[in-house]
Amino acid sequence: MRPFAAVLEPDLPRPATAPDPAALAEPVAVTDRQRAALRSLGVETVGDLLENLPFRFDDFTQVQPLALLPPGDATVLATVESVSERRTSRRNLRIIQARVSDATGGLATLSWFNQRYLLRTLEPGMLLLVRGDVRNTGRTPEIAVKTFEIVATPDEAERGETADVLGLAPVYHASSKISSRTVRDLAGAALAGVTRVGDPLPPTLRARAGLPLRRDAIMAGHRPRTLEEQHGARDRLAYEELLLLQIALLRHRAAVAAAGHAEALPPPNGLVERYIAGLPFPLTGAQQRALQEIGADLGSTEPMQRLLQGDVGSGKTAVALALLLRALEAGGQAALMAPTEVLAVQHLATAERLLGDLGVEVALLTGDVPKKELDVRRQRIAAGEPLIAIGTHALLHADFRRLLVAVIDEQHRFGVDQREALGGGATPHVLHMTATPIPRSLALTLYGDLDVTVLDELPPGRSPVRTATVPEDKRADGYRWIVAQVQAGRQAYIVCPLVEGSAAVEARAAEEEANRLRAGPLRDVSVDFVHGQMKAADRAERMRRFATGQLGVLVATTVIEVGVDVPNASIMVIEDADRFGLSQLHQLRGRVGRGAEQSYCFLYESPEPTEDGLRRLKALAEHASGFDLAEIDLDMRGEGHLLGQLQSGRGDFRHARLARDRELLERARADARALLDAGGEPFLEEAADERFGALIAGIRRG
Ligand code: ADP
Ligand code: MG
Repeated sequence: MRPFAAVLEPDLPRPATAPDPAALAEPVAVTDRQRAALRSLGVETVGDLLENLPFRFDDFTQVQPLALLPPGDATVLATVESVSERRTSRRNLRIIQARVSDATGGLATLSWFNQRYLLRTLEPGMLLLVRGDVRNTGRTPEIAVKTFEIVATPDEAERGETADVLGLAPVYHASSKISSRTVRDLAGAALAGVTRVGDPLPPTLRARAGLPLRRDAIMAGHRPRTLEEQHGARDRLAYEELLLLQIALLRHRAAVAAAGHAEALPPPNGLVERYIAGLPFPLTGAQQRALQEIGADLGSTEPMQRLLQGDVGSGKTAVALALLLRALEAGGQAALMAPTEVLAVQHLATAERLLGDLGVEVALLTGDVPKKELDVRRQRIAAGEPLIAIGTHALLHADFRRLLVAVIDEQHRFGVDQREALGGGATPHVLHMTATPIPRSLALTLYGDLDVTVLDELPPGRSPVRTATVPEDKRADGYRWIVAQVQAGRQAYIVCPLVEGSAAVEARAAEEEANRLRAGPLRDVSVDFVHGQMKAADRAERMRRFATGQLGVLVATTVIEVGVDVPNASIMVIEDADRFGLSQLHQLRGRVGRGAEQSYCFLYESPEPTEDGLRRLKALAEHASGFDLAEIDLDMRGEGHLLGQLQSGRGDFRHARLARDRELLERARADARALLDAGGEPFLEEAADERFGALIAGIRRG
């Protein structure tokens, strides 16, 4: 990792006043128009202005004299003499030209293509910093401008105020409503009050890690003397942000642990052993390790808070069932909660298959169970009957008498309140499961309050899914191939394009596509469709027909994305594949490759694929591991998309970028743990709660 710049701005004025965070909350003093423009950049207060560092710097430290310009790239500092416009003879382009001079007495002509606004912007007497391409055509060199900065207006130049940009010119995020230059000037003014910036980091930590004071880092972040200094300052601020988040997460974890006691379960005995012995397969090494690790949590009165991460098909459900059985062994109840009806019904089927004749009671609780039957099941739950309840969020309304273990599949995160509500007395041990592999840096950010177990091994006998993009002119061949495969006993999924914002339109599209295929290219095999808008019972019936092989081709919207398990299905076709996210593509592909047969994933491009979309398809074809793909996704997109809720509104990271700050994050994590273990730092904890507390509570309830 880059070292933090040890000393920043030693000649900074020392604080005349004590830090005064309240003063930083004052709105920026600007016109209403500018205020609106700033707000869209996320800047409202003086403090925001200080946190809003330049996103890049133009390095103008290498200014060259006009009199001696060689052809090629050059950077010059020059005063505008005159501005004019002319048209090129051939393509009727407009060229804006400025005659400029510099202190060496040299002359040059600057030129811009098609930027007529410059006629209004440029004035004689202005001082410009220019980077461009020099062409020595005549007596005076001509410079085709690449970037330029107005260093000083004619007035300022007259007075010798050449702003603070000579050397490294900070460039701020801007918009059509407000220029980088205006933001720079406002930031410059705000920096006069930088001494008001306090520092949440305890002096001991700062001294140990060689971290500059926060206000020095802010100063150097805006107005560095060297780029190294700027990087050090940015790292310092990113580290602090990551540290605060880790402290908030660890404190949330502690709060959950303190909010209630769980029952300490006895070690596994007969039931779990019989379950494992009765499975139609031996557990993988990873599954055994996971059972050990997670199982140990259940022996404690501290409520389990753990995440089980495993790639699609890694066998999470088999592990989850063993843990649920621990609750029954102890005479209590267990729950398995899924995000959708389809998945709940499928978990039920899996449970019934894997639990075999153990004589375990399993009860389905979803919105689709008839009211009367649902009431009966609820009563049994409320009476404390030992059973495994499987369902959607409808489970949250069940009145468990003695819920000991809850497994939450995908998406749902639980707050302290919900755990208590679910528990009915003692707090349950909770295991979260996700089939969306995420990079460790992201896991530490999103799930930093949880212990993490990873299933990093697929059951044996799975060969990688052959993945390829199919050109449009090979579409007919593709269908013929699918018909042949289906007639040979295989099955295929066809996933319809995403329709933004409308599940209803998407559903109709799936139905129409199924009809088109039935009437045309796939008329010789059986085709049906499912989508999220149909009655769950209807959908489940169609899924059942597919799962039992009565149906050859299933056209679907992304409802099949998560968890659906039909080992005989070996072909996955994805339409408009470039429009899906990488993790979603990986999830979809994970629906095949589950049986002994070689499986295939065919990707059709949308009519106008983006460059990023094509890169995703290439990554998918080249990589089989969800964890590898997740790292690629993080690198490609940054965390913004992945962080979801964490990223929204004021929860945004201001300085940290997970894709590049992996090391800083590890360090922040370790330091946060050490600080809390050592008894905590009230000031730091307060800062952490203020910055991230509400956000974390919000996510857990989401
Ligand atoms: P996940 O939920 O992690 O995507 P599942 O639990 O649905 O994976 O398991 C995928 C398939 O693999 C299921 O058919 C399951 O029965 C099977 N399976 C699970 N563990 C093993 C194992 N150790 N050996 C062979 N097959 C397994
Ligand atoms: Mg699953």
